[in-house]
Amino acid sequence: MTQSFPPATIGYGFSHAHLLGIDPLKPGEIAYLLDRAAYFAELEPGEAPDALAGSTVINLFFENSTRTRSSFEIAAQRLGADVVNMDVATSSVKKGETLIDTADTLNAMRPDFLVVRHGQAGAVKLLSRKLDAHVLNGGDGKHEHPTQALADALTIRRHKGKIDGLTVAICGDIRHSRVARSNLLLLQKMGARVRLIGPPTLLPNSYEALGVEVYHRMDEGLRDVDIVMMLRLQVERMAGTLIPSGREFFRFYGLDRDRLALAKPDALVMHPGPMNRGVEIASDIADDLDQSVIREQVEMGVAVRMACFEALATRRAPTTLRAA
Ligand code: ASP
Repeated sequence: MTQSFPPATIGYGFSHAHLLGIDPLKPGEIAYLLDRAAYFAELEPGEAPDALAGSTVINLFFENSTRTRSSFEIAAQRLGADVVNMDVATSSVKKGETLIDTADTLNAMRPDFLVVRHGQAGAVKLLSRKLDAHVLNGGDGKHEHPTQALADALTIRRHKGKIDGLTVAICGDIRHSRVARSNLLLLQKMGARVRLIGPPTLLPNSYEALGVEVYHRMDEGLRDVDIVMMLRLQVERMAGTLIPSGREFFRFYGLDRDRLALAKPDALVMHPGPMNRGVEIASDIADDLDQSVIREQVEMGVAVRMACFEALATRRAPTTLRAA
């Protein structure tokens, strides 16, 4: 079954061959993906268009993943694709094959899409240059995680009706987080104000150029924000000890009820997962469905990944892209 485009997307387009990050996208392209994803989010699973029928998607994850990999898999299947999960742990990559050789091998299998997660920034881009398939970034090192930022933006838009003009606090381990980077880029492109809150050891080295406000204390940074976005402590990327302990971190930077009370009364609480309860966020806040939209972020992840696959498959020429 093929669905027509809902009116909100007329005049927009998406002409990229790959989805490597938020950085290369224009606001109109982000709006286009969000509009399409909003439409997919309302469909029953069986009602989705078969935009990927006859296509093969390979999921190639060099780093562990639960939600992202299965979300890409479900999204591709809903659009009618065949999906193959390559198990890197048992593949020839572990036997010393270089990334270029892996790309050659994959090319020979003629996939239409390759979803890649890799521990190093730049690896996904390298594969996109070597492969004939559309490449989607499922997270590369500390660099970008574009579909997570799109899922977060869609979740925000569903609750607030807009992104423009909102104030968003991104809290915790910003330095090691590709989610923070992609979100920062997306939110600013779409007109939100961004605050970063964290200890100096977990903030990027130079944030002056990022156009953000920086706070080292939660009770200052959380005041009157519309969105509180918590992050996982990315201990696997930390060289040396940057925080004393999880308990100590929670004391200063964890989100509890008193701290949340400083934000706007209708502020949304977000976390990309996986969560460390009692380290970044108190359990009762994470589970409070009045403000926490953490589960919805996962649900919207499928819808935005469908939108990304479809956009790449159709590669509509930008017609009257908003100049921006
Ligand atoms: N799942 C997200 C990522 O892959 C966030 C995290 O791992 O903390 O970057």
